[in-house]
Amino acid sequence: MTTWVFSEEIDGHASASALELLTKARTFGDTSVFHIGAGSDAAYAELGAHGATKVHHLTIGDRLPGAPAAAALAALAEEHGAELIMFGMGNTDRDVAGRLSARIGRPVLGNAVDVTVDGSVRVTSEILGGTQAVVTEATGSAPALVLVRSKAFPAEPSGEGVPEVTAVSMPDLGHAGSAVITESHVEESEGPDLEVAGVVIAGGRGVGSAEKWVVIEELASQLDAAVGATRAVIDAGWVPSRLQIGQTGKTVKPDVYICAGVSGAMQHLVGMKDSGTIIAINKDAEAPIFAAADLGIVGDLHAVVPKLTEALRNR
Ligand SMILES: Cc1cc2nc3c(=O)[nH]c(=O)nc-3n(C[C@H](O)[C@H](O)[C@H](O)COP(=O)(O)OP(=O)(O)OC[C@H]3O[C@@H](n4cnc5c(N)ncnc54)[C@H](O)[C@@H]3O)c2cc1C
Repeated sequence: MTTWVFSEEIDGHASASALELLTKARTFGDTSVFHIGAGSDAAYAELGAHGATKVHHLTIGDRLPGAPAAAALAALAEEHGAELIMFGMGNTDRDVAGRLSARIGRPVLGNAVDVTVDGSVRVTSEILGGTQAVVTEATGSAPALVLVRSKAFPAEPSGEGVPEVTAVSMPDLGHAGSAVITESHVEESEGPDLEVAGVVIAGGRGVGSAEKWVVIEELASQLDAAVGATRAVIDAGWVPSRLQIGQTGKTVKPDVYICAGVSGAMQHLVGMKDSGTIIAINKDAEAPIFAAADLGIVGDLHAVVPKLTEALRNR
């Protein structure tokens, strides 16, 4: 299977999704990477260590990446007979995959949690809060375009060396290539990164208000944990949207996931159900979150969480 993986360089490193995808893709045979961004040696080394044998690099500069990346990848896919192209589910991945789909007339199979190749490409995705799996087979002409959920595969180096890097020329896009990024802002954040933290403390609407959110942050600081939230909390404007966990937020897989005042709606569960140990605090013993939890505390979180924080502080 001629497999390609899409990679975007972020702060001098290959995207986490590219390394996860490569770990899977290398089991299908020789894997090439289409890499956009500055093109640093560190990024190439990471891609090589995770199984890329060839990297095709397109320098994007200050252009919006979607149009040039899709055009260049369409040409490469045809030239090299790509049978499967895998993307993560980041904003750029989805933009490029959508534009590529329109260019080459192939559908995008999204939300994949597993991909198998056995003559044809089969993609597993989950529905109904992860309670049902759907397997979709890519039929028709190649390549199959697949968007894979974050953390579907662990990123594991294979010990291989530096890949062969080929520079890709900027395609002529006419007006479609004229959009440029004039300014970008890095959102300030404190504490561990939500998507890689070993411990996550999430709060839901049950916390009550933005002023009371401190109860979640204090527990998180005692455990050096990342803070997450449900969409209800984001919609209420208590915390920034980058903390949202779930179907339309981030997928997390920490060793320990503690949530307080979270009901356990399926759109939230899909983003955290694969965590190691799930601990739920909710005053409603019938809350659906308890069905997903390994440990549960039925009680008012404003009584329970401060006691937990205090106990940890006194360790
Ligand atoms: C298309 C779509 C996409 C969505 N995507 C997401 C997503 O990505 N992530 C997400 O989280 N949601 C998402 N949602 C929303 C989701 O359906 C739920 O509405 C949301 O997860 C509920 O958030 P919550 O559990 O904080 O609030 P609620 O459902 O209101 O639950 C609050 C819980 O707090 C408990 N509680 C109240 N007071 C206390 C207290 N003092 N102590 C202890 N417990 C208390 C209550 O018993 C209740 O169980 C999406 C919805 C749609 C339609």
